[in-house]
Formats: sequence, C-alpha cells, structure tokens
Amino acid sequence: MINFIIILIMNFLSENNQLFASEASKPWDFPEVNFEISENILYIPIASDNVKKVKLNIKNEKFIDLLEVNNPRIKPISVIDTKYKNTYDGYSKVRSGLYKKLLKMLEFLPNNIGIAYFEGLRPLWKQKEYFDKKFLEILKNTQNKEIAYYETTKHVSPFIDNIPTHATGAAIDITLFVQNENDINLMDMGMFDTIYGHNDQQETFSKRTTQKQRENRLLLLNAAIKSDLVNYGFEWWHYSYGDNAWAYVKKKESIYGLAVDKNENILLMSKESYLNKIISTDNFK
Ligand SMILES: [Zn+2]
Repeated sequence: MINFIIILIMNFLSENNQLFASEASKPWDFPEVNFEISENILYIPIASDNVKKVKLNIKNEKFIDLLEVNNPRIKPISVIDTKYKNTYDGYSKVRSGLYKKLLKMLEFLPNNIGIAYFEGLRPLWKQKEYFDKKFLEILKNTQNKEIAYYETTKHVSPFIDNIPTHATGAAIDITLFVQNENDINLMDMGMFDTIYGHNDQQETFSKRTTQKQRENRLLLLNAAIKSDLVNYGFEWWHYSYGDNAWAYVKKKESIYGLAVDKNENILLMSKESYLNKIISTDNFK
C-alpha cells in the first residue's frame, strides 16, 4: 500500500514538476511531428550511462567565433533581448563542424528568419556555477541530495565523471528571430533556458505550450535536424553536433573531446566530495 502511494506521489510530481521522469516527453499528437524529427532527439538524460559510454574518436578541429564571423542571420540572443546577458568571454565560439551545420540551417529557413544563440563553448568553472545553482534550487524542493543530483544532471550536464557537452564546443543553445527591416523579434517558443528558475515549458514536447509555440519549435527542429544536428528532449533550445548525445542518437562515434585542460581541478572532484562540500556551505539553508 505504501509503495502504491509513493508511486502515485512520484507520478504526480513527474507530471507537475518534471522531477523523477527518466525520459523527456514524446512528440505531441498535434501538430503532427514527422519521423525524421522524432528520431533525432535525445529523450534520456544527457549524462545517462549509455550516452557516456559512446566511443570517442577525437577530431581536433578549430573553433569559429560567431561574433567575429558576424553573419547577420546568426546573432547573440542578448542583442535582441537584454534579459539574456552573456557572462564570460568565448560564449560565441563553436567547433567549425557545428558552425557549418548552423550555416546549413539558414538554407532551410525563410530569409527573414535567423538564429539567436545564447552560449556555445562554456568553460568548466561556468558549467560548475550553473550546476551548483540548479542543484541547490532542486535540493530545496526534494531535500534529498542524491535525487537532487540526478535531477540536476537533466538540466545541466555534470562535470564529474562526464564530458559536459558545452565544454567540447559541440553544443549551442538557440532559438529563432524574425527581422522585418529594423524590427527584430524573437519567435515565441515558450520560456528559454532554465538557469533562472523552474521552467515547465523546457521539454521540447512540453504539453504546456500553445499551438503557435509548437509550430515555431517545429520550424527550428526541422531546420536543425535536416542539417544533421540533434536536439536534447529535456531542453527545446539545446542542439549539438559531434558530442556524445549526437553520437548516441545517430549511432555513431562522437568526434569532439573536452576543449579545456584535462588537469583542471574541477575534473578531479568526486561526486561524494562535491555533495559534502556544497551542502556544508552557506548555500543551503
Ligand atoms: Zn545547452
């Protein structure tokens, strides 16, 4: 009986808070999502063992700085909406392979629509900062550090025992903008990003989306997937090429390793020492 009640509570939480769900929502019934799109999404958490186990066949490819390239159809989201502030140098860098996919995407979009990006390459210290913040936010709700750690790994790729995808330069967080002469606006796809608190629209096929938001998401998905990118089903804005998530979905080997010094102290931390340290600080009250 107790087990039954616990299952009922977990189901309730999973539907209402996206906590405890081990897979991201599957495609909506309406509007219809074609097979090519639905097959190119990672529905399991990005740090799942099966994703981490993917074989890495490293390609040492250079980086492209999107700010330097300055393509009028690829802009930082911060120049369109000042709510999104970039907080470190190098956020506009991506692997040249990923850059080529972004250029390809533009061919599948109307001429007055472009890509607005938040972050590409991310240093490990920033990855840890996001992870800490999300972990403490979730811990306040769950009061259980193991569950909080697991739930956090769905939103922010862990830096312990894992290669965080943004730290390889293979991932980018994007949405679309529409430009009509001097008027430029982000397309409505629902709330972007989770760093700033709970977001019940974050899953690609979130049920809490309007018809218009779904159509806009499909426009983005279609252009990105036709260009050989994969989407992370827990975050409608997260796309990658050549990382473990991409390789797992495509049944290939991943091609980009960490773009940072592998001896960095952050990488040497164990999960146990991390949990003990973060809970003993003033962060959690
Ligand atoms: Zn991302």
